[in-house]
Amino acid sequence: MVKAIVGANWGDEGKGKITDMCADKADIVVRFQGGANAGHTIINEYGRFALHLLPSGIFHKHIINVIGNGVAFDVNALKTEMAEVNAAGVEFNLAISDRAQVLMQHHILLDTYEEERLADKKFGSTKSGIAPFYSDKYAKVGIQVWELYDEDRLKDKLKGIYEKVNISMKYLYNKPEIDYLEVFETAKEYAAFIKPYVADTSKLLRNAIKECKNILLEGQLGTLKDTDHGIYPYVTSSSTLAGYAAVGAGIPPYEIKDIIAVTKAYSSAVGEGPFVSEILEPVEAEELRRRGGDKGEYGAKTGRPRRVGYFDTVATRYGCALQGATEVCMTCLDVLSYLETIKVCTGYELDGKVYKDFLTTADLYRAKPVCVELKGWNCDIRGIDSFDKLPKEAKDYVAFIEKEIGVKISMVSNGPKREEILYR
Ligand code: GDP
Repeated sequence: MVKAIVGANWGDEGKGKITDMCADKADIVVRFQGGANAGHTIINEYGRFALHLLPSGIFHKHIINVIGNGVAFDVNALKTEMAEVNAAGVEFNLAISDRAQVLMQHHILLDTYEEERLADKKFGSTKSGIAPFYSDKYAKVGIQVWELYDEDRLKDKLKGIYEKVNISMKYLYNKPEIDYLEVFETAKEYAAFIKPYVADTSKLLRNAIKECKNILLEGQLGTLKDTDHGIYPYVTSSSTLAGYAAVGAGIPPYEIKDIIAVTKAYSSAVGEGPFVSEILEPVEAEELRRRGGDKGEYGAKTGRPRRVGYFDTVATRYGCALQGATEVCMTCLDVLSYLETIKVCTGYELDGKVYKDFLTTADLYRAKPVCVELKGWNCDIRGIDSFDKLPKEAKDYVAFIEKEIGVKISMVSNGPKREEILYR
């Protein structure tokens, strides 16, 4: 059985916690897209971790954790992350696709220099090299893992790659050129470090499917950051959709039977781009930001304050539809416990008309949120261990959103810990 856990919104919905929680019944957890540019926060008996590249199954010894071919594979980031989790006493099984592409240092440099060059027109990149990485991948000048092990060929390829990269370095960004022979040495170090983990992971997964193993596909970011269907161009450079998981993991699409779209009980987003239900009043926003997540709404990767807003049923209905969600998990319901009334955005007003469907970017910028105000529960709901025991207003809030988004909310999370989950 293959299950995907993906984001219905702008990312940071709490997918890491849900994957970690579902992982005890899984045999394999797979990352299929994105890179070290976002973080999944996980809190369990080993401590608190912000995983960037490692799949969220690493805390379960029996699980094989796969970095799939669709990932922007940053070996340095992996090394750092492995050291951190190993230091906490976590031991895990890892398999890295021989077709994953390797993120190189120049991707990070180009990402950083380009954001500088764009100045006030910047995208709000995390500067992890993701956009230049995927540009190279699709321009066919990237390096797949297997290429690291054919040294003569690799050296030759790098020479060609850096001739072009250095033109940008010198003339576009006015920065030092890169010596491809140094990169070649680094690539050899990467090759040696990852060798024990490299495998044909598509085959591994297809075999696991034949053996009826449980596989979790772990998405990064969310629908609204999808390259095609998100708030282009303020999107990420890989597809964040469950549909892409088939490609990014190398399995048949029809094997993905269950798609859990994760959404937060309010909205948050990082980076630039339109955000219709954003709370613009600074005091109100700061209060929610401070209380959000487990340590406030601050980026797991960058520490920068996240933009926060009311739950947006228009964006989430769209987000779930594009994911093909078969069920929804709502996280962070406990965060809203301080409010006497809670606003929910249920429409976008544009040129005197109210839209219930998500719009393209320029129209989103012009749209104003149409909100309803629901009664809050205004008491602490952490520690409550069944959905039925929640205050009526909290149950009504979930039911209202479920009706608006049109997908069953099967799980509600009322705290960041693994066991803080209420099934419906
Ligand atoms: P991900 O990338 O989708 O995994 O999300 P992040 O880890 O970036 O952000 C989610 C944040 O919410 C993290 O700080 C989690 O610890 C936290 N979190 C997850 N579920 C809950 C919940 O039900 N309640 C609270 N208060 N925090 C939660």
